[in-house]
Amino acid sequence: MVCDYHLHSEFSFDSSEKIENICEKAVQVGIREIALTDHAEFPLREAAPWPDFSERDAVITACREKYGAILAIRSGVETGQPWRDPELEKELMKADPDFVIASVHELDGYSDPHMFPFTKENVKDFIYSYLAQMTQLASLCDYDVIGHVTYLFRFIPEVLTAEFPPESFQDGYETLFKAVIARGKGLEVNCSGLRMASIGKTMPSAALLKKYRELGGEIVTVGSDGHSCRSAFSGLEAGYEVLREAGFSYATSFLKRTPSFYKL
Ligand SMILES: [Zn+2]
Ligand SMILES: [Zn+2]
Repeated sequence: MVCDYHLHSEFSFDSSEKIENICEKAVQVGIREIALTDHAEFPLREAAPWPDFSERDAVITACREKYGAILAIRSGVETGQPWRDPELEKELMKADPDFVIASVHELDGYSDPHMFPFTKENVKDFIYSYLAQMTQLASLCDYDVIGHVTYLFRFIPEVLTAEFPPESFQDGYETLFKAVIARGKGLEVNCSGLRMASIGKTMPSAALLKKYRELGGEIVTVGSDGHSCRSAFSGLEAGYEVLREAGFSYATSFLKRTPSFYKL
């Protein structure tokens, strides 16, 4: 069974892919289940409007009718920085998603990570504040899995990540993973890192997933983070392999926010 639990459609501000096209390709390549996880960034702003969920639900319903038993389609959302507005987060959940990824795409007090002038002197502080922010997200917010927990590293120059790889921040990741596990929540294996020269691995890597498992982590989803049919479903097999390497035998799918487990 192959599932893609991180996909963006034209209902995301940064994608123009039709849900119908995603479903069509999913069936062609033998995917059994998909979760549409369009962006809802906090704060809500004009440049990154949220999906119209009722409009999206109508498209999903039509696709469910068309694909019936051959493709399960879950309605999901990827929140970004939801701790910034708990009331708005509650409002968002009224869309009644099957599955919620919560992510950190920006850091409080800093501008866009693309713009940040990382140096040998400041990079560790920056990574620790990213980890603290993800731990806050894991402790306070409404989610099923935390998204791409090594995302920040894609913005750090290679010469610095060679010296300070994610795996060298075991203490910060341990605190994060414990917070996730205490809430009965999970992590995702985001396969988009495999497509980026600056990362070249899943986010997170097998080493960090192994740490999560050793601490008692059981819930893990696998997703391509595709924003078009070209990138949708890419790297999923490698993602499953990374999970096996980390000692997992099962991955997770969701229906109405309830996890179930399928064998790897
Ligand atoms: Zn994301
Ligand atoms: Zn995404």
